[in-house]
Amino acid sequence: MIKVGIPRALLYYQYYPMWKTFFEELGAEVVVSPPTTQTMLSSGASRVVADTCLPVKVFLGHVLSLVEKCDYIFIPAIRSVKKKVYNCSKFLGLPDMTKAVIPESSPILDIDIDINKGKRRLYQAIYQLGRHFTWNPFKVRQAGIAAWQAYLNYNQLMSSYSLTPPQAIEKISGTLESTPETHYPNPLRATIAIIGHPYLLYDEYINHRFIHRLEQAGYKVLTPEMLTTEELKSATGRLVGRTYWTYEGEVVGAGEHYLESGADGVIGIMTFGCGPDSLMMDMVRRHAARLRATAFMCLTLEEHTAEAGIVTRLEAFLDMIHRRKRRLVCV
Ligand code: SF4
Repeated sequence: MIKVGIPRALLYYQYYPMWKTFFEELGAEVVVSPPTTQTMLSSGASRVVADTCLPVKVFLGHVLSLVEKCDYIFIPAIRSVKKKVYNCSKFLGLPDMTKAVIPESSPILDIDIDINKGKRRLYQAIYQLGRHFTWNPFKVRQAGIAAWQAYLNYNQLMSSYSLTPPQAIEKISGTLESTPETHYPNPLRATIAIIGHPYLLYDEYINHRFIHRLEQAGYKVLTPEMLTTEELKSATGRLVGRTYWTYEGEVVGAGEHYLESGADGVIGIMTFGCGPDSLMMDMVRRHAARLRATAFMCLTLEEHTAEAGIVTRLEAFLDMIHRRKRRLVCV
């Protein structure tokens, strides 16, 4: 059986169930790289210039961990999934960059997704990808339909049951033991919304188990995936009008939505060296300053971010929220 490796990084958190379904429908076995470690981060970082953003360094580390463990490594170039809305340039050149900096990589399965070129080109690209496994176009079509349905189910699961992507993936694969706690006995316990790209929010190594810390302390954590596509779209529209970046909703849309409803505090997580996020997060920060209703904090991660620094800032932010809540209870 052909083995297809999928790096547990970058767009894995958005699309893994869809990609897995597609390859399995075509008879392949899917191998996912293990969770990020320091060795993976260091090996990925050693292949690129220092100012490359952290998630790309992590991604390359995951690719290196898959070398010799699979027949192919799947690395799509996702340029645009919506007309005239574009992705960060790092995603456009990902397969070519990987080939250049990791020449020893297993052959790369590449697909160019650009909806601006029309649906016909998209279907051709999917068929070309499927041809690595079968010459039967009907089988590829069936796999494509099943994969799209898996993607819709995955998103529905997250927004309906307030699950994070890792929880939804575990639930789909049957390894999630119970749904997360939804009972908060202490009235002073707050609801904290975390906004940012999934590859920053759910990679527990690079964010030092940020969400886990909040949940363990009894906070209710909200994330962008817990909102529906319509909610994200309309919140993005309210704040910036026309969308420009592909994944703007998970930063700007979620930020706008949670600042205005449903959270005691909003924490934005971004990474050093990220052009799109430096603009998007600043819009959210300015909006928070205008509203003056919900506390907002932005954390910037990079490969040398120390756990103690994250914990200190988090504790200070939570203290501020508690003081606010106490004041409101006393009034
Ligand atoms: S959006 Fe930012 S963090 Fe994500 S790949 Fe692009 S530069 Fe890196």
